[in-house]
Order: sequence, then structure tokens, then C-alpha cells
Amino acid sequence: MYADVIIDITHEKLDRVFQYSIPSGLEGALSVGAEVIVPFGRGNREISGYVVEFSKKTEYPPEKIKPILKKAEKSIAIESKLVALAAWMKEQYGGTMIQALKTVLPIKRKEASRVKRKVRLLLDLKEAEAKLKLYMDKNQKARARLLAGLMDQPEQDYELVTKKLNVTLAVIRSLEEQGVLALESEEMMRGSVRYRKHDDEPVYFNEGQERAISRFWEDYRREMYGTYLVYGITGSGKTEVYIEMIRRVVGQGRQAIVLIPEIALTYQTVMRFYARFGDRVSILNSRMSAGERYDQMERVKRGEVDVMIGPRSALFTPFKSLGLIVVDEEHESTYKSGQVPRYHARETAAARARLEGASVVLGSATPSLEAFYRCRMGEYTLLTLTSRAAGRELAQVYTVDMREELKQGNRSIISDRLKELIWQRLKMGQQTMLFLNRRGYAGFVSCRSCGYVVKCPHCDVSLSAHKDGRLVCHYCGYEEGAKDVCPSCGSNCIGGFRAGTQQIEDIVKREFPRAGVLRMDMDTTKKKDSHEKILSAFSNGEADILVGTQMIVKGHDFPNVTLVGILAADMSLYSNDYRSGERTFELLVQAAGRAGRGKLRGEVVIQTYSPEHYSIRMAAKQDYEGFYEEEIRYRELMGYPPVSNLLAVLMTGMEEEHLELAAGYLKSFAVRADREKRLQIIGPASPYVSKVNDEHRRILYLKCGEKESLIEIKDLLEQYIEMNRGFDRIKIQFDLNPMGVF
Ligand code: ADP
Ligand code: ZN
Ligand code: ZN
Repeated sequence: MYADVIIDITHEKLDRVFQYSIPSGLEGALSVGAEVIVPFGRGNREISGYVVEFSKKTEYPPEKIKPILKKAEKSIAIESKLVALAAWMKEQYGGTMIQALKTVLPIKRKEASRVKRKVRLLLDLKEAEAKLKLYMDKNQKARARLLAGLMDQPEQDYELVTKKLNVTLAVIRSLEEQGVLALESEEMMRGSVRYRKHDDEPVYFNEGQERAISRFWEDYRREMYGTYLVYGITGSGKTEVYIEMIRRVVGQGRQAIVLIPEIALTYQTVMRFYARFGDRVSILNSRMSAGERYDQMERVKRGEVDVMIGPRSALFTPFKSLGLIVVDEEHESTYKSGQVPRYHARETAAARARLEGASVVLGSATPSLEAFYRCRMGEYTLLTLTSRAAGRELAQVYTVDMREELKQGNRSIISDRLKELIWQRLKMGQQTMLFLNRRGYAGFVSCRSCGYVVKCPHCDVSLSAHKDGRLVCHYCGYEEGAKDVCPSCGSNCIGGFRAGTQQIEDIVKREFPRAGVLRMDMDTTKKKDSHEKILSAFSNGEADILVGTQMIVKGHDFPNVTLVGILAADMSLYSNDYRSGERTFELLVQAAGRAGRGKLRGEVVIQTYSPEHYSIRMAAKQDYEGFYEEEIRYRELMGYPPVSNLLAVLMTGMEEEHLELAAGYLKSFAVRADREKRLQIIGPASPYVSKVNDEHRRILYLKCGEKESLIEIKDLLEQYIEMNRGFDRIKIQFDLNPMGVF
């Protein structure tokens, strides 16, 4: 047996693994991630490394391979656990060990730059003058110098302050403690809220919050680490619950990671954590350079951080004694990585927690089917928050049947009800958001007269119209000809829904000539910061109506928005994807939640061709559990996740014929490998995007009740691919339980 050992895991060249033999005395004693002592280089210097993989073969002459000397004594290196986590990810999601390691370990880059920090004066001039006099009287020169400098220029670069004014961090800290200044890292500077630690303000938890916290804490104290789902609508106090749980965990000397989707990582949210934990909080975001990231991780390793907040990748923060991982808005699809290994942060959080002996707390107003299903199966503990902490009322929702509008002679994309309500807002000086649901739009074909949607007879997903009119199932490859009359009602109103945000903006401007209209979509937000600019313009009341795609649904609160119109709610319902019902429900509930965030009660208009569909009915009632019951029945019936498991094998290649052939071989291998016939094998089919940059794509789906069987088959497929040169010219990626179809 041989072991691949990685020596310098912080180095850019993580790819350099060295093979060592395992002496008989160590056989069976090593696991992936184990820290070992090995002879290195010409002089056989003894250094430590980590085992990343085992193999039976070697490409070198066996006599040239050196043996591992020993296992490092009492190694508790965080790296060991992260390497073990990488191994788990490789196993679950496919790809190479190196790809997994690169995902998990912070890599040192040469261009390492520092996190920019700023010092900001918190006092007004009069207060500052008084303080300055005090420092002078006491002959506290460094303090006086710093304060005088800040009185000249209230906001300064940390580096500059320390160098130019020649003051130490200790001096800055002492002034910070007195409330004279704030030391802030750059991303903290974008808003205007000042932060000070104020744990002197007690929070009185309501009954649901109290129950959630104590349930978690009782388990935790008995070292029964588990996964919990905090389920409650927006404003029900979930964040307060996380903060209290973290406070307790940190109080015991352990650390916490808080995952928040980047779009929800707003200044206000981050501030709430700063207010409780001061500068023991650190933040990651995707705009940071590798160097900045690395610096943050070094701070963590030095023990200067208790709470790390960030998107997906914050999950790999190298804490010494991780006690809790919070995954807020756990239903968000951004938790699934788009790169190999295509890991899901929710599952990976649970895996890391198992390795560390930590708990996981998920939170959502519209939980993923996965999370709720696991609660029902008893794998997760459901913690429900019911009463709305802030005491706001839910919006009034109207569902408008667009087929009826057509019958009444209204061919416009805006229903009469919505028009009337927009007029009302304009008169009252309140704001409206019009949301065009384009998510997952993939050319589905429907009838505007009766709502009929053309679906695949085998997969119950909608067929997609290709340019030549053919209707294709991207799941199994089924095809049929173009349609010019509706098979259900015979009308000729059948076709794809084509309106974009631009057209809607034009229509709105024509209908309401005196209203100020803003538009937010991919086109208007291409430039840096334009996203923020549009949102703040709208927030400042510079427009009456904001038209946009799902971008406008998340994040920011607009207290003056009292009407939300959802145009074409069905769009996401019939994307060719088994998760479309879930996405639609989630989007509609979120969009509806935008109305009436302030003191005024909101109204919501859902325009649809299929008002009877459960996703729309339940969203209108904001009834998650009702939705869940219907949706899980569908997943059960069709054998889709989370009831079953789905492995997507995406193959890409330049030569279509060759790809076709290779895909066929792979399929027949899978059929043979599945000796006990536990799998259902579907495809290979062309994905919706069947060609990218001249590379053709094919997709194969394997379905199975037991995840382990799928992972076994994936391993066999990986071996088969590696051994056959016929696959050299094509790229093959695995995606376990993908977020949608390709
Ligand atoms: P969520 O995370 O579920 O959206 P938050 O935790 O942000 O909810 O709570 C919404 C608002 O209610 C926040 O302003 C929060 O400070 C406040 N809040 C939450 N719980 C309480 C409580 N027990 N007492 C007073 N205010 C609370
Ligand atoms: Zn019809
Ligand atoms: Zn099909």
C-alpha cells in the first residue's frame, strides 16, 4: 500500500503530492487526513505532511519510494480534519482529491494583500475637543496625536494612521473602548450605522424562540450534536435565535460559522453580529482576493476570531474548536457549488460538523424539500417559530386568472386588478414592485387560452421548444413536432411566453405615463455597483415602480412598497426541471413578502394561467406545509430527490459523434455495473444548452433510492473513465442531486 502525502498545504502548488510507502507497522493505523512524518528531499530531512489518498499502485520504481516514518504524535491539526472533509467531498461529489483540497484549504498566494482597515472618529467636534484637552492634560501624547489627526480627517486608513501618526494598535484599541473611534474593516464602511458592543440591551425571547434555543442547548450541553431546522417566516426572529445560540457556544470557548447567501449579506445583518461579538467577528465575501482571504484565515488560526460570516466558502474556516455551523436561508440554490466538486453547503456543513463534533442550525422561511423531509424522517430537529416578533401583518394576496382576462378581452400583460391597484399606489404616493418571473425560463410552450402546458409523457417536466419548433425533453431525450393548435382546447393561442423586462417597462410607461419607472435586470446591472444604485434610488423614492427579475425579490427592505405584482407566475413553474414547483413557491412567497415591510399593510397580485396549481395556491395562502405535502407526493411518485437520489453525469466534447459514442459506452457500462438492477438509468440526452463554445454536451441521469449505491456506481464509472483512452478527449463531471436539470 502507498499513501499520497501533501507537504505544504498552504502553497499554491497544492498539486504536488508525494508518494510514500506504508510500513507494516503503520498499516491500518492511518486514515485520510492523518498527519505523518516523512523523509523529504536529498538529505531526507524529517518533515510533516498529510495523507490525502491511498493507492495500491505506484508509477515509480518501488525501490525509489521512501517509507512514512511515523504518525505525528497527538496531532490535533485543523488541517487533518479539513483534509478528511475534502476526502468526503471527493467521495460524494466526484472529481479529484486535488480539486477537493483546493476547495477546502486556504491557499497562500504571492500577491497576498492585507485586509484594508479604517479608523473612524465617532465623536462630534465638541466632544472631541473635550477629550483632546483631557489627553493633553494627562500627557497622553499618542492618544492626543491620534485624536487630533482624526479631527483633521475623521476617516483614515489604518495603515496610514499607524505609520503617519506613529501610534500602536493598543492605542487605537483603547480609544475604541472609550467609544472615541471605530476600527472597521473595509466592507464595514459601506453603510452608515455605527457599531458598538451593546450586550447590555437584553432581548426577551418569545415562546417559540425560547423553545428553539433551549432545545438546541440541552442537546449541545449533553454533547448530542445534531442538525436543527429553524423554520419561521421573515421577521419571526430567526437571526436573534442564531445569535443567542452562538453566544452560548462561544461562551464555552468554541467557535461558530454563519453561512449567509451573498445577496443577503447586508450591512444591517452583519452589524447585528458585530453588535454582539465586536471584532471577534470576521466576514468573507466573494469580492475578496485570495490574499485577503488567506489573511483572514490566518487571523482565525491565531485564535482572533470566534464567528465567521460569509457565503458558501466560509464553511471551510479553519477554526480549532468549531462548535456550531449556521446555514441561514438554507433553501438558496447558491449553496450548491457550480464547480467541481459540486458540493452542497448544507450537506457539507453536516459532514464537517460530524468530523468536529459540532451542531448545525439551518434556517428558512421556505425550507428546502430536503431539509423539511429530513425533519419528517427524524434526521433533523424541527424548531418552529410562529409569532412574528415585529408584529407585522401578512400581505393580502389576490390571484388573477389570466385566461379569464383574455376572455374578457384584456390582451395586456397587466391585469385589470393590478392596473387598478397601481393607480391607487400612485395616488397615495406609495411604491410598487413588478416582478417578472423568468427564472429557469427554458422555452416552455403553453396555451394562453386554457393554460395547457406541453409536457414529456415520461418525465412530467415541460418540453422545451427549439428554434426549428421541435419540442424536446431535456431529461430523457423524448421529442415531438411543433404545435400550432392547443391539443387541449383547440385554440391557436399556443406558443412560448416571450416578454422580457424591457417590454414590461415600456408597457408600464405607456399605461402610467406620469409614474417614475426603474428597471433592474441583467442588462441594467452589468456595470459595477449599478445593482446597489438602482436599489438605493428606488429606496429613496426616486421612482414609483420598480420592474425587475428575481433580483428584486431578495435582500433589501423597502418600507414604502405596499404593492407587489407578479407577472407570469407560471414561468418558473414549467421550466423543464423537477424542482420548478419548489422554486415557484419559494419565489412567490418571497416576492409576496416584499409588500408591506413597513407599517403599511401590503397587497400582492399573482397573475397566472394555472391558478389551480398547488405551488400557486399554497403561495397565495403562504402555506408552506400545505405546499410541502403536495410536492413531496410528486417527488415520491416520480422518484426525485429528496425521496430518491439523482446522479447527473455531464459529458462535454468537441466532436459530437465521438461524444455520442462515448456517452453510449458509459451508459452500457453503468447498466452492466448495476448488477442488482437497483438503478434507473435515463438518457443520454442533450441538455437545454446542448453546445457551449463549440463543445457539445450530453447528459446521463442515474436514479436510485439509496445514495450509497449511486456513489458506488460513480466510483466504478470514474475508474472506467480513467482506464479507457476513448474518454481522453471528453470531459466528464458528476453532480449528485443537482439543483436542476442541465
Ligand atoms: P428573521 O431572521 O426571522 O427575519 P429577525 O431575527 O431579523 O428575524 O427579527 C426581526 C426583527 O425583530 C429584528 O429587528 C429583531 O431585532 C426583532 N426581534 C426578534 N426577536 C425579538 C424579541 N424576542 N424581542 C424583540 N425584538 C425581537
Ligand atoms: Zn388550450
Ligand atoms: Zn422525458
